[in-house]
Amino acid sequence: MGERVIPLTDWRRAVSAPTIRAGSALPEGLLADTLGRPLRDLRISVTDRCNFRCSYCMPKEVFDTRYNFLPHAELLSFEEITRLAGLFGQLGARKIRLTGGEPLLRKHLENLVEMLAALRTPDGQALDLTLTTNGSLLTRKAAALKTAGLNRLTVSLDALDDAIFQRMNDVGFPVADVLAGIDKALEVGLGPIKVNMVVKRGVNDDQVLPMARHFRDHYGATVSLRFIEFMDVGATNGWRLDDVLPSSELLQRLQREWPLLPVTSGVAGETAERWAYADGRGEIGLISSVTKAFCRDCNRARLSTEGQLFLCLFGTHGHDLRALLRGGVSDADIMSTVAHIWAERTDRYSEIRGSASAPSSSERRVEMHYIGG
Ligand code: SAM
Ligand code: SF4
Ligand code: SF4
Repeated sequence: MGERVIPLTDWRRAVSAPTIRAGSALPEGLLADTLGRPLRDLRISVTDRCNFRCSYCMPKEVFDTRYNFLPHAELLSFEEITRLAGLFGQLGARKIRLTGGEPLLRKHLENLVEMLAALRTPDGQALDLTLTTNGSLLTRKAAALKTAGLNRLTVSLDALDDAIFQRMNDVGFPVADVLAGIDKALEVGLGPIKVNMVVKRGVNDDQVLPMARHFRDHYGATVSLRFIEFMDVGATNGWRLDDVLPSSELLQRLQREWPLLPVTSGVAGETAERWAYADGRGEIGLISSVTKAFCRDCNRARLSTEGQLFLCLFGTHGHDLRALLRGGVSDADIMSTVAHIWAERTDRYSEIRGSASAPSSSERRVEMHYIGG
């Protein structure tokens, strides 16, 4: 009773080897897709495994002992990731986010961070290197990541109440250990830190005010809490619109407690709408992927754990860059292939969600832990 059906088709096969654009010249200037959006941000999933089973991402009923995670040989190696990241840097990417799955489960991740930190853009700049983690291994790993050259960090935490958090991560992981990880990261100099809270109505929406109060009172400007609307990614999380707490409603709840002032950053492609506490005790962010789509500015590409390039979090189809890496294709030809793929990009799923032209959840099987959140 109540068991979810495990998808029989493996959505990880929804990939194709791209046509290699050998010898074709790179487009002049910055890359732009069909909506004029540049390629600025590359998110890399370094593992499809996780030690949590958040119901909105990797529900236990699907991702259990029978689930076939990718074998090690299928993953991109650190050398392959670094080579691709360098080429994306040549094509305009300025920010790299390591994610997963739980990125800190990938052995010796600090070695990859060190390799990525050595990359330079055509104008000699280092890339902005950041990482999203559930925080469970942070007390052990924070110092090595900082030394290796990680610039910034996002930690996910969905509740302050232990019972609620443990129900959400579904492996009984305690809040205190995530908070200890955040403290350690701040201590080693990885601050200011972003904390991501996915809000599900009726599950953890009563944690919005306690979370805001906690981080405001104890951390001020060193932690910025960002509230994320529960999204319909993948095909396993049982998403319903009724479970989404719209950011507008969430903001009203916050404003009843504290005066907040809008912050205009001027940074294109920023996912969060920022609000500062009027008394100067830091700020919060609202990521309204469902109620206020930000596809117009979306400058993000995603590289799956096994080297498939996805152009949208809700993409149905990946482009097999690993085949190029392992097939002896030159840097110049990989760059020109990626440039052509980007130039043809039309994705804007959040804007068209619910319309007849949006892909259905059965077409949209690619899961977030695989292509990277
Ligand atoms: N394991 C790491 C973590 O949890 O931070 C990194 C990967 S996780 C897929 C990246 C981010 O996606 C997390 O902040 C997580 O809360 C968010 N996320 C996962 N599923 C989501 C969903 N259905 N809706 C909104 N955000 C989601
Ligand atoms: Fe794991 Fe992060 Fe997904 Fe939770 S959100 S199951 S921590 S990958
Ligand atoms: Fe970008 Fe796709 Fe999300 Fe729109 S739906 S913001 S195109 S990832």
